[in-house]
Amino acid sequence: MSTTALGMPKVRHGVGNIFEFEPFPEYAEKELQNEQLRANLGFATHKIRNKRAAVISELPDWQDLRTAGSMIKQKVMANLDTYLEEFEKNFTARGGHVHWARDAHEANEIALKLIQAEGVTEVNKIKSMATAETGLNEFLEEHGIYAIETDLAEEIVQLGDNDRPSHILVPAIHRNRTEIRDIFLQKIEGVNPDLTNDPAELAEASRFRLREKFLTNKVAISGVNFGIAETGTMTIVESEGNGRMCLTLSDTLITFMGIEKLLPTLQDLEVFTQLLPRSSTGERMNPYTSMWTGVTPGDGPQNLHVILMDNGRTAALADQVGRQALHCIRCSACMNVCPVYERAGGHAYGSTYPGPIGAILSPQLGGIENQYNSTLPYASSLCGACYEACPVKINIPDVLVHLRGKAVDHEKAQGEFEGGKKERHVQMDAMMFAAKKLFSSGALMSLATKGLPASKLITGKKGKITKLPGIVGGWTEYRDIPAPPKTSFRNEWKKERGSAPKRVGGERVDLQAIIAANQAKIAEAHANAETANPIAPKEAN
Ligand code: SF4
Repeated sequence: MSTTALGMPKVRHGVGNIFEFEPFPEYAEKELQNEQLRANLGFATHKIRNKRAAVISELPDWQDLRTAGSMIKQKVMANLDTYLEEFEKNFTARGGHVHWARDAHEANEIALKLIQAEGVTEVNKIKSMATAETGLNEFLEEHGIYAIETDLAEEIVQLGDNDRPSHILVPAIHRNRTEIRDIFLQKIEGVNPDLTNDPAELAEASRFRLREKFLTNKVAISGVNFGIAETGTMTIVESEGNGRMCLTLSDTLITFMGIEKLLPTLQDLEVFTQLLPRSSTGERMNPYTSMWTGVTPGDGPQNLHVILMDNGRTAALADQVGRQALHCIRCSACMNVCPVYERAGGHAYGSTYPGPIGAILSPQLGGIENQYNSTLPYASSLCGACYEACPVKINIPDVLVHLRGKAVDHEKAQGEFEGGKKERHVQMDAMMFAAKKLFSSGALMSLATKGLPASKLITGKKGKITKLPGIVGGWTEYRDIPAPPKTSFRNEWKKERGSAPKRVGGERVDLQAIIAANQAKIAEAHANAETANPIAPKEAN
């Protein structure tokens, strides 16, 4: 009998708006010149951050909720195939239609055909990251269909010339009220010419335009916050009520859903309806939480469609460290605490997903091998604030470091080493080898510190080192290094106490063994926590 080697299936990365426009450092440098942007961002992120801190402090079990959210998401990722099939079965059984899209292009094509079948040229849209990822609006426009953004902030961005969202939750965070008033005066036909920048007046101007659209357009497009596998239910949480209008007044509803958005049961939702509003808008509860399960004759949309989209998610799922990025519930808390995002702004990340989550999600969806995503994992100081803020405990700094490693491995494996990268890697490898030798030998370290006084030769007048040569020169491009001390800590210790500091226990520390032992402990703690999981379905009594 002959056999055919099929090999490993090829990883399929996503397409669409998930890439940088240009390397992050260059784009960020330009954005840093925009003082208005920095002022808007600083004001908005601090305001949301403070509100969030206040409502979280009210919950004594906040950390347990975070753990529960993380564990539910881990369970979903470990059994994604099962939950997807369960969701499809239940959604279909209640009158809905399920479509599968391997990438953003396929998802857009499916939506176009469904809209064309309804014979309309204008559709209403609920704010949705998934459709921003696929570039749906631009795609539909190429085919003569105009998608009206009904979320106020998305509307501002849509009406602003050549503008793009810059925040997951507050897409127009880069705009201030006066800019918004000017956009409305220019773009909304029949708007009050004496419009001021009072928020109530601005909202009224938007309402004036959108109310007619809600009442006349028959097709609506949405994303989704959560899909429930056990019932086929969909959920959207929002603040303005525009989503509720689209979900109830349309005849046809087409929902874009990333395959990672599932929760196993309705009961799981109780964890996320506590985590999400507090982390996103700093509210105890969203003003509008809409849930719909199938078609109800005579009530709401009679044609229900969901497009289940991969677009690089299974590629991310295959990475054991990186897959936690798929746990994201798009709350934006990580952005609001990130010192890099606060200064560079959302556009610098290029992708639909800015900030810390964008820095780990985009390169995984589009592939770290893609040159247009390779600088994103470096868009962080690794301060860890994003990890602390994340309601589902995504360890963003860990994933960033992991992706940096993958990016370097890829460059090395490429064998092309364009743009002087070969030289850089050779230097870096040599430097790391030397550092390893130096730091693991007390004798070498002691010898090296004898050279400290010589560092004076490269210290500038202000007592700082302002320029270093070779690969380490990148460090001094943006910052100075304080002059090294005249003598080392080891020498000072020896002088004070008469002998050099000893290794802990007098033995060489086996770091690998310590890491392995800790991993075993963590695995054990997870297993124990899972057994005592407070959100597991209760037994019927
Ligand atoms: S990574 Fe965490 S904090 Fe950031 S948007 Fe996603 S869920 Fe929110």
